[in-house]
Amino acid sequence: MNSIQKLTEYFSEFPGIGPRQARRFVYYLLTRNQDSLHELTHLIQDLKKDIKVCQSCFRFFQDAKQHPVCSICESTSRDHTVRMIVSRDTDLESIEKTKSFNGLYFVLGGTVPILEKNPESRVRSKELLKMIEHEAEKELKEVILAMNATPEGENTGEYVEHLLKPLAEKHTLKISHLGKGISTGTELEYSDADTLKNALKNRY
Ligand SMILES: [Zn+2]
Repeated sequence: MNSIQKLTEYFSEFPGIGPRQARRFVYYLLTRNQDSLHELTHLIQDLKKDIKVCQSCFRFFQDAKQHPVCSICESTSRDHTVRMIVSRDTDLESIEKTKSFNGLYFVLGGTVPILEKNPESRVRSKELLKMIEHEAEKELKEVILAMNATPEGENTGEYVEHLLKPLAEKHTLKISHLGKGISTGTELEYSDADTLKNALKNRY
């Protein structure tokens, strides 16, 4: 296998990228000059060195000061009584951009496909339970499930709700869902800020 084929295979594994797009990426890289390829290589090499996973919300964050938790979790001006559960970091970023949510998050790190036999292997189930138990003993009052409006997103939401039910009852936590308005089939990441804002306001 030559370099073009190898790189094409790598890019094909990226989320949402098929073999044809992957090939176009490779040919695009071939048109770039050596300096820009060097820069890209370095960025990729250093990515995991600079970025850590927050020990509270599990999002990726850039850590310069050896902190165990990210700036959102650390912030005292944010509302620590609400946690929003999202599938991926990109969803968290979309919600942050709306500037209409001031609580904390939890990143599941994936979704649960329909008919999955081991849903706990697809998302951070254990970490979620541990965090909720820990926070509920402090000041947590509400958990918002913010999933994609796709069948897989809904399935993930149902799984998480079922998972959290015993804890919610034990600690009288409210479990809420983003309101309607995000059209069916839409991923959170691609919803515009106004839609997300309304969905948050109309949570149920
Ligand atoms: Zn965090």
